[in-house]
Amino acid sequence: MRILISVDMEGIAGVTGRAEIVPGHSDYERFRRLMTAEANAAIQGAFDGGADSVVVNDSHGGMRNLLYEELDDRAELISGHNKVLTMVEGGQDADGALFIGYHARAGSARGVMDHTISSLQVHNWFMNGVAVSEAEINAALLSQFGVPVLLVSGDDQIAAQVRDRLPGTRTVIVKYGLDHRSARSLPRTTVWNMIREASAQAVRAPRPEVHPQAGPVTFRLEFTRSFYAEIAALMPVVKRIDGRTIEVQGADVVEAWRWASSALRLGSTGDN
Ligand SMILES: [Zn+2]
Repeated sequence: MRILISVDMEGIAGVTGRAEIVPGHSDYERFRRLMTAEANAAIQGAFDGGADSVVVNDSHGGMRNLLYEELDDRAELISGHNKVLTMVEGGQDADGALFIGYHARAGSARGVMDHTISSLQVHNWFMNGVAVSEAEINAALLSQFGVPVLLVSGDDQIAAQVRDRLPGTRTVIVKYGLDHRSARSLPRTTVWNMIREASAQAVRAPRPEVHPQAGPVTFRLEFTRSFYAEIAALMPVVKRIDGRTIEVQGADVVEAWRWASSALRLGSTGDN
């Protein structure tokens, strides 16, 4: 049994602000070590639960945060950027996925560093008309390959969203959001033990059946500023809905994702 572990950073215990998650900032080196520790807890849990192999995908920012030299040496590591499936690259041949360090969708009250895909550029990200979190987008992408999301860890707000939208998925709450930039985090050892035990249980449990997200799939991106939409809409496949909103459609979720991430990338060149 092969397990994918996708590791983001905003939902790691202790993280509450940009100085902790942006390379070059004062506390980044401390928190990438803590991110690696939570990844290790999940790796240990996956093997405890019967995994034969584990691949870890670094899923935050430039995707070069996890300390390879401190990662459990039984796991493979995917790091770096330009991966078609982005946060869930490596999941194509997995039997199940664990999402660690995830955060609430853009616009969540009391979600620590809530955003969807891009905090700077995206005000709201809709899938088939519903505002979604990264966990839901990534679960849809993995569904294309029949891969279930077995567990999501992060703050209490993403846990609530996962329980609501991905009912078969277990959750681990490592901190409670007080607002966008503050949280009450549980003790470190408690967090690591919870992630390890819940990962083991999730991997050990009967594998839930997953059906591919039915196509066609529409992604609507409401940007934070009109010029992102303006530039993204230079691609004929992109439909401009209003000043700062665009929409793309794909025959399946992966195709829709490729168009949407291309539109976001192109729109983002407006920042240059
Ligand atoms: Zn992130």
